[in-house]
This record gives sequence, structure tokens and C-alpha cells, in this order.
Amino acid sequence: MADKRDYYEVLGVAKDAGEADIKKAYKKLAVQLHPDKNPGDATAEERFKEASEAFEVLKDPQKRQVYDRFGHSGLSSGGYHPGFRSVEDIFGSFGDIFGDIFGGGFGGARRRDGPMRGADLRVGTRLSLKDAAFGTQKEVKLQFPAPCEACKGSGAEGGAFDTCPTCKGQGQVGIQRGAFFMSSTCPACRGQGRTAKTLCGKCRGSGDVDIERTVKVNIPAGIDDGQSLRLTGQGQPGRMGGPSGNLFVTVQIEPDERFQRDGNDLVHELHVPFTKCCLGGEVDVPTLDDKPAKLTIEPGTQAGSILTVPGHGVSRLDGRGRGDLHCQIQIEVPTELSAKAKALLGELQASLDEK
Ligand SMILES: [Zn+2]
Ligand SMILES: [Zn+2]
Repeated sequence: MADKRDYYEVLGVAKDAGEADIKKAYKKLAVQLHPDKNPGDATAEERFKEASEAFEVLKDPQKRQVYDRFGHSGLSSGGYHPGFRSVEDIFGSFGDIFGDIFGGGFGGARRRDGPMRGADLRVGTRLSLKDAAFGTQKEVKLQFPAPCEACKGSGAEGGAFDTCPTCKGQGQVGIQRGAFFMSSTCPACRGQGRTAKTLCGKCRGSGDVDIERTVKVNIPAGIDDGQSLRLTGQGQPGRMGGPSGNLFVTVQIEPDERFQRDGNDLVHELHVPFTKCCLGGEVDVPTLDDKPAKLTIEPGTQAGSILTVPGHGVSRLDGRGRGDLHCQIQIEVPTELSAKAKALLGELQASLDEK
């Protein structure tokens, strides 16, 4: 909240601007930032909300006076929290203004009947390291609200309403806060001005029901932990012919016992018997592929040295091959020795001491 912009700055008007200038400035911005002109543009939507909030305060002489004297915090300490959660709320509140900007095509009527883009949805999915390395297909379950069919999204059984008794259909109620008298959205009808005669039994009056959908997601080879995929148009469906939102799937990769991932490379701690480190030889290295890779140990290989198996890492996202598998050598010292082994090691010890 600290970075809230000054309302006059948002609307681009002077501090002493008259009511008409404020309205004019807001209309100009609303035409520019209107969601129908900027479909899917979240920045335009945020600016539209910001401008609408500024207009909401500055058009009201009482609120404006509080804001001029005490700023944003003055409004909130007076119990007033301006702002709009959705574009729909803006059309609901300033319907008359949009009516004369857009020739009656928007405004109050648009609130329920105009096309609206569906919301974006975000889900997570867990993958094994192998699936991330080679790509896979995953199914994700989505749950989102859609208009209730029983009441056509109105929340009222049979679409029958009474005028809200609390606000007498105004949608706003007056509240006394200290020295200030302010109007705020009617809590009984949430600004609708009407209440259902009988709440719809299917959606319990909310107008929405949750529906479930399963979406198949193609996971590209080489995806990394925390990355998100965007599936255009797979979000919440739009209303009244509006476009659907997008679906964002964020990937979480399960830790793997054998490999640590380092970009497109993998790191594996490889245990090699100390005799093989002395004499050299071949060892099997586990891989993400179906069969192990062969690795040559040179005589005299030291603990901690890194040997690389090329091309056995994770696929590159751009399809240009795979990273490498780096093996960090750990020397294995046997803890139980047969009498024969002990004798042989004794001989070895003596021979090394001679040197
Ligand atoms: Zn319903
Ligand atoms: Zn009401």
C-alpha cells in the first residue's frame, strides 16, 4: 500500500480541478484502458482499476476533502477502503458514466450481459527428475467457479428478486465514522440493490458452482524446478462470449536419491573400491536412461576427483542435446576383511613402506 499513487497524478488533473475536469479525465482514461480494447492486458486492467479508484474518491466532495487533508491513510482510518476488485465492480458502480461514453452499450447492463474474459488459473504439478529430463505428459485437475445453470448465475431461485430492504435498492448505505459521513457498499446485498426472494438451492445464492476439469499438459524435456508453462485459453471460461483465461502450470521436481541437478548437468556421488582407484578399471555408473553407462577409472584416481560421462545429463529445453553427468569419486574402504585379504594388504603395506 506504501506505493499507492496520488489520485490527482493518476487522473492527470490539478489539485484544484473541478468536478467536470475530473470526470473528463477519468472518461478519457477509461476509454484508453477499457478491457474490451485491451483484452488480456493485465497492466491496462490494473491501471483501469487504479483510475477508477481515484475517480471514486475525487468525484465525491466528502471523500475528496478527507483525501486532500489526510491522504490515503485518512480514508482508511475513516473506515473507507476505496478500490475495485474486478472490472465488473467498476461497471456496476459507474454504469451511468460508461453509458454515456459507450453509447449505452456498457454500464449497468454490461455488468451482467457483456462479454467478460475468464480468470487465469494456476496449478502446480510434481515431476520425477527423469520426467523433467525427458519430458512427459501430465494430467492436472482444475476446479473453478462457473455460472450456476439452475439460476442462470443470478443466485435467486427462478431469477426472482426483492428490492434490498437495507439500502432500499440503492446498493449503498451511509455510515457515520467520527466526523465523517460516508457511503459504502450495502453489506446485505453487496451493492446489488436487490436480494433473492428465495436463494437458489443449487449454488446457495452465490450464482456460481464449482466445476472440475482435467487438462493434459505436455511437459517439455529439460524443464527445471519452479518453471511455469502457460496454456493459452485453458483457464476459466469467459462469460457471455468473452475469451477464456490462461492456465499456468508450475513444475516442482522431486528430489532424486542418485542425482543432483546443476542446470542441464547432473552430479552423482560415485563410490569406487580403493583397489580400483589404485589399479584403474571400468565401473558402471547409474544414469537416468534405462541402462548404466561405462566409466574408465585411471590408475591413481584420487578421492573427490570428478569424472564426466558426456551426454548423460538433462535434455536442453531448446532441444540442443543433453548436458553431462559428472561423477564425484568417493573411495570405498572395506570394513570387513578375510584373512587372505588381510595378508595381501599387509604385503602391500610392507612394499609401500620400502618405497
Ligand atoms: Zn444457482
Ligand atoms: Zn442493499
